[in-house]
Order: sequence, then C-alpha cells, then structure tokens
Amino acid sequence: MLKVEGVEKSFGDFKAVRGANLTVERGDIVAVIGPNGAGKTTLFNLITGQLKPERGRILFKGEDITGLPPYEICKKGIARSFQIVNIFHRLTVFENVQVAVLAHQGKSSQLFRPARKLAVEKTEELLQSVGLLDKAYEVAGTLSHGDQKVLEIAIALGNDPELLILDEPTAGMSPEETASTIELIKHLAETRNLTILFCEHDMEIVFSIAKSIMVMHQGQTLLQASPEEVRRDPRVQEAYLGGEVC
Ligand code: ADP
Ligand code: MG
Repeated sequence: MLKVEGVEKSFGDFKAVRGANLTVERGDIVAVIGPNGAGKTTLFNLITGQLKPERGRILFKGEDITGLPPYEICKKGIARSFQIVNIFHRLTVFENVQVAVLAHQGKSSQLFRPARKLAVEKTEELLQSVGLLDKAYEVAGTLSHGDQKVLEIAIALGNDPELLILDEPTAGMSPEETASTIELIKHLAETRNLTILFCEHDMEIVFSIAKSIMVMHQGQTLLQASPEEVRRDPRVQEAYLGGEVC
C-alpha cells in the first residue's frame, strides 16, 4: 500500500532523514521506532506532504505521491494525527469531527446552509467508534489530554482514510489511557479496514501490536522486519534498544 524509497530531507546543513525506506502492506499495523531525533516525525511529514523530500520516492497504492501537497495526499486516502495535539480547542468535540467530515465531503464552503445539521450521522458514528460520543458537546479544549489525542484520531477518520498515520498516539497519556488507546487502535484497524502506520517510544506497546517494525537511526532505516527479528537483531540492540526488550 505504501512504499518509501530512499527519501532524504535536510534542515539547513543537517540531514534529518538520510535514506529512509519503508514498506506498509494493506491491513497491517506498522511501527516506526528510534530514539528522539531519529527522524520519525520528519519521515511522517514527508509521507503526508507537510515536507517535500530532496531525494527518493513515495508510492501509495502504486502511485507516485512524492512532493504532493497535504490536501492532495489526504484526498488519496492517507490521514494522520500529530505528535502535538492538533484540534480546534474552542469548538465542541462534535464540531471538530464534523468539520473534518464536511471538508472531506467537499461541503465546507457551503456557508449559507445550516452547517449544524450536516453530516450529523457520520460524525456521531465516528465519535461512537472512538468512545467520545458522550462528550460530543463538550468544548474540545476542556477535554483531558488523552481524550484530545483520541479526538484527533476521530478527526483523521473523518477523511475516510485507508492509511492512518499516528505520530506517538499515546504520548503524555496515563497508563490507563495508554492501554485503552492501544485497544482502540487495534479495534479501529480491525473494524474499519484500516492500515496503520505509527511511531511510539513505548516498546511494550510497539511489540504488542505491530506486525512489522521499522527501526530508524540518525535519519536512516536500520532495518524493517517482524517484531521477533527486530528483537533479535544485534544492530538494533546496539544502536537503540540496549537489551531493553530482550
Ligand atoms: P523524531 O520524531 O524521531 O524524534 P524528528 O523527525 O522530529 O525526530 O527530528 C529529526 C531531527 O531533525 C532532529 O534533530 C530535529 O531537531 C530536526 N528537525 C526536525 N524538524 C526540524 C525543523 N523544522 N527545522 C530544523 N530541524 C528540524
Ligand atoms: Mg517525533
């Protein structure tokens, strides 16, 4: 479904991504791991069009999407959440998701229609699927951090993606919120026919849900393999894991 081939991206003189490769098969949950600063977020920004690579190619369902703007890539079926929560804090939970659904349906410019009544069913269905329906009319900025991160997933789902990219979906969450978010991600993958690419620093989470793991180190792909192979790989242990997962 997704193939990233040798992408590179510099910030000034610094090469943040220097030859990253990644393959995501349809229906899989794929994790990208690597220490802080390894280039995970930059790689996601390259895939979703927030940044353009200087080298390399990105193929989605066989089509070259390298360097396309974010809205084009989103239209093709890739949606994402951000490492730092990205929601409309003053809108309600419902409105946050409704805006995404309407934008996806191409109705956001119909300002003279009573917007409140549009896409209600779809919005409620999405809120239900992430467990936020009972908070639909709360102001998004007043939600707990964990709920805000989950809301961001619902917003991404408003675009009806085939591939959902999550940048540290449990960052800053309590252990309870983390556990329920992991269950949610697994459930969404199964029930909504989603392919999921995520990065995460918590190895326990990664090894519990990922079918395939790509290890990034200093902007490069060290390897991509099954959890068992990654666990056993001496390069990974040396470069990053340091025996932590043995
Ligand atoms: P990760 O998500 O793996 O922690 P990032 O992709 O955020 O890593 O960052 C990779 C490297 O690129 C880091 O050294 C970071 O400081 C640098 N970097 C990321 N974004 C920018 C930017 N917009 N300008 C300059 N440097 C950046
Ligand atoms: Mg990051």
